Amino acid sequence: MKVLNLGKILIKSWAYEIDEAALKQAVNLSNLDFAYKHIALMADVHSGFGMPIGGVLASEGIIIPNAVGVDIGCGIIGAKTDVIHISKEEIKNIVDKSHKKIPLGFESHKNPKSWEGFKKAPKYEVIQSELDSSRYQIGTLGGGNHFMSIEKGSDGHIWLMVHSGSRNFGYKVANYYNKIAKELNKENKLVPEKTDLYGLFIDSVEGEEYFNSMKYSLEYAKANREELFRQFYRIFAEETGSREIMEKINVHHNYASIEEHFGKEVVVHRKGAIKAESGELGIIPGSMGTPSYIVEGLGNEESFKSCSHGAGRVLSRRQANKIFTEEMVNRSMEGIVFKNPKKDYSEAPMAYKDIEEVIKNQEDLVKPIVKLSPLGVVKG
Ligand code: 5GP
Ligand code: MN
Ligand code: MN
Repeated sequence: MKVLNLGKILIKSWAYEIDEAALKQAVNLSNLDFAYKHIALMADVHSGFGMPIGGVLASEGIIIPNAVGVDIGCGIIGAKTDVIHISKEEIKNIVDKSHKKIPLGFESHKNPKSWEGFKKAPKYEVIQSELDSSRYQIGTLGGGNHFMSIEKGSDGHIWLMVHSGSRNFGYKVANYYNKIAKELNKENKLVPEKTDLYGLFIDSVEGEEYFNSMKYSLEYAKANREELFRQFYRIFAEETGSREIMEKINVHHNYASIEEHFGKEVVVHRKGAIKAESGELGIIPGSMGTPSYIVEGLGNEESFKSCSHGAGRVLSRRQANKIFTEEMVNRSMEGIVFKNPKKDYSEAPMAYKDIEEVIKNQEDLVKPIVKLSPLGVVKG
């Protein structure tokens, strides 16, 4: 871990190289009056909107919609199956059927889905206005970075992964409250303008509304992943004869929660970071062409008990699409079943940092438990 003294409080970084834009955003965070103790940057940090992705901000009494991110509750399911052997033919069939049967990209279901959580929806304006369309989105993958994959585990088992969030629902919630916070900032001057870090007092009407809406979006995101997983596993089981899931982890990497750290109750924002509580399992994905890891948290307070949520980008989507060719991407995906009908190269493995290095840089935060190597990938 590297300590940087560039603002009012320290920045502690588990990444040894930080791009200029992300560093500037981290400095903005470290200058917030209500930021608590230090800013923690995970090993996969890169610039985001307002706050870097791979950033952890603990704050006193303030919650910031942009420090959670627009895809509230984005996260990953990692599931260990009872299957040990899988053939190339089976992998191809699973990938093909998933492309045909599961809504990907911007697709929605043709019929609304039921979810018991719909009954518990808060009565807030933004939630109510999105509720109807959200019934068509639960169990849909979304675009680009989201994926479903078949992986070979170092424990000998075949694992499945699903990466998705709260779809358009969380996006609407995030933007709605960011706009309110921005408006209120004109009066309360909580944060400097143009930093895109507008915040809400957590005990104000608006802050409480955002917090409840965010928590509801987290439940929605979790249910979305469960529903996606149900569809994916059904296809997988049809092909392989799998009868049982032996272990399943479902973690958020964009969220805020109230936690005690260094003896004080604070709002912890994890934007592209997961909880690394002592003994708890987490998932750190690499890319569509490189390994991912199931990890066990070490409960290190220095990162507010957090770790990286992936390998992290080195190239933006636009840069990647400009630089990479179909041939380069195909070469990097050799031996892995993968379809790319949209000719989108922004998710190429080379657009991400080296996962092995990212894992090594956070040895004091997590212990790798299972290494997963990709066999087949379905992208959004
Ligand atoms: P994000 O939620 O920030 O878009 O992505 C989380 C992380 O997932 C990325 O930093 C990257 O390391 C990883 N990732 C992106 N696409 C894939 C994929 O197709 N398969 C796997 N295993 N990991 C991926
Ligand atoms: Mn997402
Ligand atoms: Mn995500």
